[in-house]
Amino acid sequence: MRPDPILNLFLLVLIGTCFHSQAQQLHETVINPFYSKIVISERPVKEFELKTIYPTSSLRINIDRNIKEPFKLVYEGSNEKMDTIQFLANANPCDAENSEFASGLIQLNRPASRLNLVAPQESLNFVLHLIHAPLPETGITGQKSFKKKSGCDKPQMISYKIWRDGLPDPKPPREVTEVEHLVVHHSAGSNTDTNYLNTVRNIYLLHTQTNGWDDIGYNFLIAPDGTIFNGRDPQGVGDEDDILGAHFCGKNSNTMGVCILGDYTNVAPDSRALRSLQYLLAWKLKKDSLDGNGTYTHPKSGGNLLPVICGHRDGCSTSCPGNSFYPLLSEVKKETIRIADSCGLVIADLKPQNLSLVKIYPNPTSGYIQVSGSASKSFKRFQVLSCTGITVFESDFMYGNNFNLFLPDGLYIYKINPGTKSETIGKLIINKN
Ligand SMILES: [Zn+2]
Repeated sequence: MRPDPILNLFLLVLIGTCFHSQAQQLHETVINPFYSKIVISERPVKEFELKTIYPTSSLRINIDRNIKEPFKLVYEGSNEKMDTIQFLANANPCDAENSEFASGLIQLNRPASRLNLVAPQESLNFVLHLIHAPLPETGITGQKSFKKKSGCDKPQMISYKIWRDGLPDPKPPREVTEVEHLVVHHSAGSNTDTNYLNTVRNIYLLHTQTNGWDDIGYNFLIAPDGTIFNGRDPQGVGDEDDILGAHFCGKNSNTMGVCILGDYTNVAPDSRALRSLQYLLAWKLKKDSLDGNGTYTHPKSGGNLLPVICGHRDGCSTSCPGNSFYPLLSEVKKETIRIADSCGLVIADLKPQNLSLVKIYPNPTSGYIQVSGSASKSFKRFQVLSCTGITVFESDFMYGNNFNLFLPDGLYIYKINPGTKSETIGKLIINKN
């Protein structure tokens, strides 16, 4: 039987009407090949259909109210099948800007150009940020576990030059900060994605394109398999661990940010990630002679005390690094200090320097010492370290240059004006007999 053209036309219109009543077509505002944006306001539909110009690799939704039901995303995923992700947008991830409620970074398992989004309710106001990270050309997938070097050496890590390949450069300038607080974060992203290099690329684009930051917010990122990634590019200004980041609610001075990839609200991080974190933190403790058990005032926190090793939530209103990770930080701290202690700063390797600037006497001493020197007026800080590099005494030169050290007998290292160009390093022997 010949098909009736009028009936066909009727059916087509009917199908078209049904389709449109279910899903509204969306049009993105393409900011550049790496980022586009869609603002949805008060539309009386729940389902949205989207064809993007550049394949979307990840997205974030910012929403103006607390909706506890999940969004659903269907997209052309692996093996040309349709994949589905459900996610909540009622958290306040540590790196979301300008919104009380946002999703984590929702990473697709393959960049897709056709997406279907189902909102939990009609007439919501939300913003869809679409990240278009081209797949990296490098062969490294992030699954290669890096072996740690011994002791407190700088752990091996994947350079920003490798993971940033093909993406826009970060913007200058760079600022160096004197780090006193090592702040631990989680990315609040997927716990199942295993292409960690790709995850870092997507976080970089989220921070630089969506948030408009100069570079990725963190100084370091650690994958669940223990792989460490360089974060902020120091751009020749200083060491990467001393570069001022963007991760601590605008109070980034004196901090170094480390992010563990994954969402640790309900599950604890992989032990391999924790191990890399401990070695990274131990390296930094030794490098800057920081006391892992210490607590310093944080100038940008209204003079509040903040531990040297802390979580994001210790200084900001956030759940980061997640309810299942935060309680583990005391164990992380203990283990980090154990590693730092076991490194045993080798006194023989420590080069005395600038000894002509200063004299400490008596040395050996029973505990009482006087510090003098030609540059005594510029003396600002006096520090005594144990053989293992732990700070055991520290003071400003506020009340003259005499100190009474109540320390066990033994060999110590003293530093005057630590961390400065005129840093003086010498050995000090305490012997009460
Ligand atoms: Zn955080």
